[in-house]
Amino acid sequence: MDCIFCQIVDGKIPSEIIYQDEEAIAFPDIQPQAPVHLLIVPKRHIPSVAHLAEAASALVGHLVNIANQLAENEGISESGYRLAINCGKEGGQAVPHLHLHLLGGRELSGKLG
Ligand code: 5GP
Ligand code: ZN
Repeated sequence: MDCIFCQIVDGKIPSEIIYQDEEAIAFPDIQPQAPVHLLIVPKRHIPSVAHLAEAASALVGHLVNIANQLAENEGISESGYRLAINCGKEGGQAVPHLHLHLLGGRELSGKLG
């Protein structure tokens, strides 16, 4: 499998892993779009949020909990931050492995679409 994020999960592509548990890992985005730009990624290969079965939807809640904790660690809980999941081509998803973006550390653009 040549999925970039699966290779990061497997340690085949080196990355600064800032959090991990049985289900998920987090690491800095290689092209940060804000002073804080982290990716929270399930270890299991799920192509996008659209592929998440009802039974697995708690996983997104888990990713959000991790993001909230990382925001706290990064000191941006009070100032605010954005969590984003891109889905599919027109949703701007470039890497076809589900991931949650945590962005913050400055006033973010108001544009979402
Ligand atoms: P998407 O557009 O799919 O929501 O976001 C994919 C993100 O993954 C992009 O922000 C991109 O910079 C990041 N990315 C792509 N390849 C790598 C990589 O090899 N390592 C890391 N850390 N981030 C990556
Ligand atoms: Zn993958």
